[in-house]
Amino acid sequence: LETSYEHIQEVRKSLPAYQVRSELLQLIRDNQVVVVIGETGSGKTTQLAQFLNEDGFCNSGRLVGCTQPRRVAAMSVATRVAMEMGVELGNEVGYSIRFEDKTSKDTKIKFMTDGILLRETLVSEMLDKYSCIIMDEAHERSLNTDVLFGILKNLLSKRRDLKLIITSATMNANRFSRFFGAAPQFTIPGRTFPVQVVYSRHPVSDYVESAIVQACKIHLSTPVSNGDILIFMTGQEDIEATCAGVYEKLLDVYAKRSGKQQLNQPEDIEILPIYSALPADVQGKIFEPTPNKRKVVVATNIAETSLTVEGVRYVIDCGYSKLKVYNPQIGLDSLQIAPISMASANQRSGRAGRTGPGFAYRLYTEDSFFDDMYVQTIPEIQRTNLSNTLLLLKYLGVNDIMAFPFVDPPPEQIIMTSLFELWTIGALDNFGNLTELGKQMAAFPLQPSLSKMLLVSSQNGCSEEILTIVSMLSVPQVFYRPKEREKESDQCRTRFFVPESDHLTLLNVYSQWKANSYSSHWCRRNFLQFKSLQRAREIRRQLYTLMNKKKVPVVSSGTDWDAVRKCICAGYAHQAAKLSGLSRYTQLRNGLELRVHPTSALFGAGDLPSYVVYHELLLTTNEYINTVTAVDPDWLMNYGVLFYNVKRRVEDEEFYTE
Ligand code: ADP
Ligand code: MG
Repeated sequence: LETSYEHIQEVRKSLPAYQVRSELLQLIRDNQVVVVIGETGSGKTTQLAQFLNEDGFCNSGRLVGCTQPRRVAAMSVATRVAMEMGVELGNEVGYSIRFEDKTSKDTKIKFMTDGILLRETLVSEMLDKYSCIIMDEAHERSLNTDVLFGILKNLLSKRRDLKLIITSATMNANRFSRFFGAAPQFTIPGRTFPVQVVYSRHPVSDYVESAIVQACKIHLSTPVSNGDILIFMTGQEDIEATCAGVYEKLLDVYAKRSGKQQLNQPEDIEILPIYSALPADVQGKIFEPTPNKRKVVVATNIAETSLTVEGVRYVIDCGYSKLKVYNPQIGLDSLQIAPISMASANQRSGRAGRTGPGFAYRLYTEDSFFDDMYVQTIPEIQRTNLSNTLLLLKYLGVNDIMAFPFVDPPPEQIIMTSLFELWTIGALDNFGNLTELGKQMAAFPLQPSLSKMLLVSSQNGCSEEILTIVSMLSVPQVFYRPKEREKESDQCRTRFFVPESDHLTLLNVYSQWKANSYSSHWCRRNFLQFKSLQRAREIRRQLYTLMNKKKVPVVSSGTDWDAVRKCICAGYAHQAAKLSGLSRYTQLRNGLELRVHPTSALFGAGDLPSYVVYHELLLTTNEYINTVTAVDPDWLMNYGVLFYNVKRRVEDEEFYTE
C-alpha cells in the first residue's frame, strides 16, 4: 500500500512544492533564469523536473536535465522519481554518472552529476537536447557547479529558449541571482519546528566514541516512537566504526539487563550507514519505514541537504567533514578532515526539526562553533587543484582564464600552479595553448595524469596494460581487509606484489582475476573486492571503446614492463620523488618530505628505488605517498622542469655537504 501509485501521488500532493506548482511554473515561463529556494525536503529535487515534464518541456524529444553534485544523489533521486511516475528507471527517467549511463532514447528527465553536464558541453556546445536545466543543490558550490555557472551564463544569451533553474538552500541564493543579472527568486514556503541545540561542555577527543555514547543515551532514555536519530560523520571509516560501536554497546547493555551472556540482536533498532561507496540498493534502505524500531542513520554530509530522512528528531553532529584542500605553494592536493562551517552546522541541526520539535547534539563546544568555524564553507573552486578544470576550459576555447565569469574566482596562485602542472605533462605549450596531446587528453573523463598515461601508452605499445591500470585506479578499494582477519588478508595481498610498482601490482591482480574467469569466488578467497573489480572491468570496457572512437590504437606490450613503467612515469612527472634517507623520499618539485604508505608493495621491500612517482598523497600523521612506482631518473629527464630540479637538488646537496 505504501508504494501504491495512488498513495505516492497523495504524498506528492502534500509536499510544499506542490502547493505552489502553478505559480512556480508561471515564473519559469516568464523568465529565463529562476532561483528556487526551499527547505530541505520541500520537494525541489523530486518535484521540479516532474512539473516541467508535465508542463510540456519534454515535448518533441527535448530533455529536462537536473544536475547533482554527488553521484549517490543522482542515482537515488532518479530512482525515486521513476517510481513516483510509475516508470522503469532508465526509460522516461534516467541518470548518468561517470562510467555509468542509465538513460535511453525515451528519456525525458535526466539526472546527472554536474561533472557529466560539464563534459557534455565539450561535445555539444549549445546543449541543444535540453529545453531546461535544473542545477540542484547549487549552494554546495561544488567545483563543477561553479564552472557550469560560467559556461551557462555565456550560453544563455546564445540560446534564448533554454531555461535555467537553480535550486538552493537559503545560503548563497542572492549571489546566484545577482550573477545571472538579477534573476527572480522564488521561495517555497515551508514549515520547520524548533530544534534545541546542545553543545558539548568540553572539547571532545574522539568524536566517534562520543557519538556512540550520545546515540545510546538517546535510545535508552526515550521511547522508540519519539523519533529517529541522524548522525553526521566524515566518511566511510568513521561511519562504519560508529555503526559497529552503537550496535555493540547496545548488545552489551541489553545482555546485562536480561541477565543473559549474549544476545543476538538488539530488536528495537535499525542502524543504517550511508556514504558514496555504498551500493544504491543498500542506500535506498534509509527511506524504508521501520515499524517499532528506531532508525539510526549514520551519514556523510550527503544527508545535510541532498537526502531527507523522514522522522528524524535527534541529530548528532561530529562537526567535521572531509574537504579537498589544495596547497598551491607546494602543489599538494589532499583530502582532509576539517571543521565544517557554521552554515553547515545549522543545516545539520535543522534536520532534526522536520516532523516535530527536535534536538541537535553538537560534539563540540559553543566556543569552538564561534571561534573555529567559518561562517560559510569555502567554495571548492577556491581550494582545489584546477588542472582538470582548466584543461576543459582551454578545450572550450576559454583562453584567458582570468576573464572567465566565475561566481567566485579561484586564487591566482592556484590557477598558475595548475597551468604549470598541465604544461609539465605536455598538455600546454610554452604560450599556454592546448597542445595536440592536451586536446586528446580532454576527451577522456579522467584526471590529466591518467589520460596522459593512456595516450602515451598507445605510442609505447602497451595500452592494453595501461588501460587496466587506469581502470583499477578509478575504483575504490580493490583489496579487502576485514577487521577480524587483517593479518591473513595482508599476507594474501603480498602474493600479488610486484616489488617495484603498486601500479603493476594492480595490473597483476586484474590479470589473475581475468585468468580465473573473472570469478567472484576467487576474489573472496584472495581478499579482493569483487564489486570493485567488476566496476574496473566495466570502466576498462568503456575506456577501450572511447580509445577506438578516438582512433587511438590499443596495443599490448606482452611482458615489456619497462614500457609500462615509462608511461606511468609520463603521467606523474610532476609527482616524482627522490630517495633521501632510510624509507624517506623528497618531492622533486617542492622538497616535501614523504614516506611510502605501509600498504604499498615498495614498503619494507628491502632496498628502496632511488626515484619514484606516485598516484596520490595522503595526509595523516605523516605525509604518505600511495600507489607508487619506481622509475629511472633518465625518464624523468625528459620533462624539462624536473631536469632542472633534479640537477639543482644535487647541487644543493653538494653545497651543503661541503
Ligand atoms: P528537496 O529537494 O526540497 O530537499 P526532495 O524532493 O528531495 O526535497 O524530497 C521531497 C520528499 O520526498 C521528502 O519528504 C523526502 O523524504 C521524500 N523522498 C525523497 N526521496 C525519497 C525516496 N527515495 N524514498 C522515499 N521518500 C523520498
Ligand atoms: Mg534536494
